[in-house]
Amino acid sequence: MLDKLPISLKTQKILEKALDEPISYEDANYLINVNGSDLFALIATADYLRKEIVGNNVTFINNCNINFTNICTVKCGFCAFARDLGDVEAYILNDEEILQKASQAVEHGAREFCLMGGVLPDADIEYYEYLLKLLKNEFPNVAIHGFSPTMIHDAAINSEMSIDDSFKILKKAGLDTLPGTAAEILTDRSRDLICPSKVNVSTWINIVKASHNNGIPSSATIMYGHVEKIEERVEHLDILRKIQAETKGFTELIPMTFMHEYSPIYKTGEKNLGATGTQDLKLYAVSRLMFRDLIPNIQVSWVKMGFKFAQVSLASGANDLGGTLGGDELSQASGAPDGVDASIEQLSNIVKDLDRLPIERNSKYSEFYPIKSY
Ligand code: SF4
Repeated sequence: MLDKLPISLKTQKILEKALDEPISYEDANYLINVNGSDLFALIATADYLRKEIVGNNVTFINNCNINFTNICTVKCGFCAFARDLGDVEAYILNDEEILQKASQAVEHGAREFCLMGGVLPDADIEYYEYLLKLLKNEFPNVAIHGFSPTMIHDAAINSEMSIDDSFKILKKAGLDTLPGTAAEILTDRSRDLICPSKVNVSTWINIVKASHNNGIPSSATIMYGHVEKIEERVEHLDILRKIQAETKGFTELIPMTFMHEYSPIYKTGEKNLGATGTQDLKLYAVSRLMFRDLIPNIQVSWVKMGFKFAQVSLASGANDLGGTLGGDELSQASGAPDGVDASIEQLSNIVKDLDRLPIERNSKYSEFYPIKSY
């Protein structure tokens, strides 16, 4: 089929090989730069592989973000959400507010709380343990997807505790899965520019591996389209690929396109407008060709892309729509184009229009629930 398309011989050869095996690092670096007919051939190949590997189901989870504080000491250059301690807009939710938000989500069928926030200056492992127990005591059947490698790192230091011991305590208190956030771009060059106070590359890798080795799976993320070079996107994906080959602990890959408009680095003159639409599609398609079934689930972030472009991305190698979210204040602060709260009906409509089957899942992609008709 590919030899009938007006595409370059090199692209054709790589895509034909990609039907049978994961693409190499070098070929990924080539494909992430193609355009025109070559780009459409890449997308078609990724969509074909998606169907072969995970079929036609598009999954998502009924979940709720609980952003328990916006106070943060880290000050990432891309973040429009964080506030300083004492800022007029700074907040920390109290127990009652956290439980009220959780309770409302459970009334709407939530299966997961996404417990996220800024890095409080004195947050320690005991504080995170307290938050987990607070939610698990009231809602034992709802999974908790919580914290980030940077939050764990800083809290472990405050508690004078090893990362391993920290995860043991948090798992016992009810941490089901870890967001693989704070990854941004896993090159120290980019991190020095956008998040110098965050964990460096090797620390991020060690924390994620420790999480997996302690029986806490995590997502894998990439936040791209800011100061990184295109080849750093592939370098990042290759790091994730190596971790997954070792631990098998990633539940999904979540590409997160940079939302520039309200970010400090954009406001202060680093005029990066984020990734373009075709760059987004190439990231999805190349990810499918690199990971195949090693990380079978590739998630579209509708909250960052909007519903229309999320649907197009589902046709470029992805098979998951994330969650209903019930509010995502980090994305809201960055200017989420279609809001931060989706209904099951909204997500299902996008999927059905692609002639694919919407289906609810749990946090670990181990249980699936048919969508009730509406
Ligand atoms: S992205 Fe997270 S760690 Fe960075 S400033 Fe924002 S809240 Fe803090």
